[in-house]
Amino acid sequence: MAIATINPTTGETLKTFEPLTDTDIETKLAQAQKAFEQYRKTEITQKSVWLQAAAEILERDKENLGKLITLEMGKPLKGAIAEIEKCASGCRYYAEHAAELLADVPVSTDASHSFIRYQPLGVILAVMPWNFPFWQVFRFAAPALMAGNVGILKHASNVPQCALAIEEVIHQAGFPPSVFQTLLVGSERVADLIADHRVKAATLTGSEAAGASLASSAGKQIKKTVLELGGSDPFIVMPSADLNAAVATAVTARMLNNGQSCIAAKRFIVVDEIADEFEKQLLEKFQSLKIGDPMLPDIDLGPLATPGILKDLDYQVQESVKHGAKLITGGQPLLDRPGNFYPPTILTDIPPGTPAEQEEFFGPVALLFRVADIDAAIIAANVTPFGLGASAWTTNEQERDRLISEIEAGAVFINGLVKSDPRLPFGGIKRSGYGRELSSQGIHEFVNVKTVWVK
Ligand code: NAP
Repeated sequence: MAIATINPTTGETLKTFEPLTDTDIETKLAQAQKAFEQYRKTEITQKSVWLQAAAEILERDKENLGKLITLEMGKPLKGAIAEIEKCASGCRYYAEHAAELLADVPVSTDASHSFIRYQPLGVILAVMPWNFPFWQVFRFAAPALMAGNVGILKHASNVPQCALAIEEVIHQAGFPPSVFQTLLVGSERVADLIADHRVKAATLTGSEAAGASLASSAGKQIKKTVLELGGSDPFIVMPSADLNAAVATAVTARMLNNGQSCIAAKRFIVVDEIADEFEKQLLEKFQSLKIGDPMLPDIDLGPLATPGILKDLDYQVQESVKHGAKLITGGQPLLDRPGNFYPPTILTDIPPGTPAEQEEFFGPVALLFRVADIDAAIIAANVTPFGLGASAWTTNEQERDRLISEIEAGAVFINGLVKSDPRLPFGGIKRSGYGRELSSQGIHEFVNVKTVWVK
């Protein structure tokens, strides 16, 4: 895949980049290792000052950085600016809390003095996706840098300017050179990077195939990985729920980021007695969404990020329809304009075993399932191989407790939109990956948890 900015709204190639050579990569890895040896000794208060400065730069430049996101991957500009603001808040969270999260933890034992000390591992490789091109990187970088690690970023090939801008923000903030570096390389370089003796661990956010490939390379080298992979999150609506609020959130949850979010609600599981009304309201709202140039302020839905994503989504919808799913609205790429546009789409009457039941749909397609009761809802929620997030709507306490304990997912949100928050851990189970980002769990993923025993 070429490393290039290709505007998804027009299909125009705006800028291409030469991938780094073997010599360039070697230089950057050597610089990263050298930087680590000094950086690991830096006081945490100093790192905090730099991370606060990064937050300020992000806030200051949010309009321009937001435009860069929209230009490269097509999300509506207001969402892109909100993403930059979120990065600033993630930086502030770790600037303020890292000292407490990384402090020695005393433990009473038979020693005169024993405790846990958290120490950095070294150079960490981050392989990142294009869908939240800033947030995915900052939610790795902020805790990793505070813990004393240094980062090398292999970003998705379609967001090279975002990748370079992130490196620039971190440098401008005052972090020493080479503490965080962008490597413009294709995915075929990842196995060699993880095999390099200077790289101590890796994190990947992306597809199952990419995650499995990175984890097997890392496994051969006995190196730790964190994987944040795909999801097909259920959105369960029980009859006791506030239906209007549920439908309004359902639309946001499915359409956010042009439908390309790992934690987007993808499967809407609705109990029979309210399913007609839910479908009617969802259809009305989907049909009122404004599709167009994501740089314009009133646009709800921009293009998909690449022609490949459009092609895959189209195939999944067509296959599901061929095997008996019913199309309520949408269902065909918008070929009357340039770019990768796909309309809001609803599929229902989805037979078992079809892509719509089992796979992740990365675009504005809602998959609607009618179920008899809460038992059927929980079975339907757990039927996919994924386990990232889940949103469930009910005002009944017993139902709430069952949904919280029986849904197989890394997060359950009751009466709300699944979202990431620096204060809460984020990650999945099953084929959605392993490990956690954010919160105290996130900062402890890439540290040596050292046991100290003194007599
Ligand atoms: P992708 O193709 O897996 O790309 C993600 C990153 O992995 C890119 O940097 C890509 O580089 C690299 N990559 C691709 N194949 C690789 C391989 N064999 N070995 C090593 N690296 C490889 O993912 P995508 O389709 O662009 O992104 C969408 C997926 O990411 C969805 O499944 C979505 O749910 C998931 N996602 C998960 C989360 C989460 O937090 N759980 C968040 C966002 C997205 P190139 O661009 O150079 O190919």
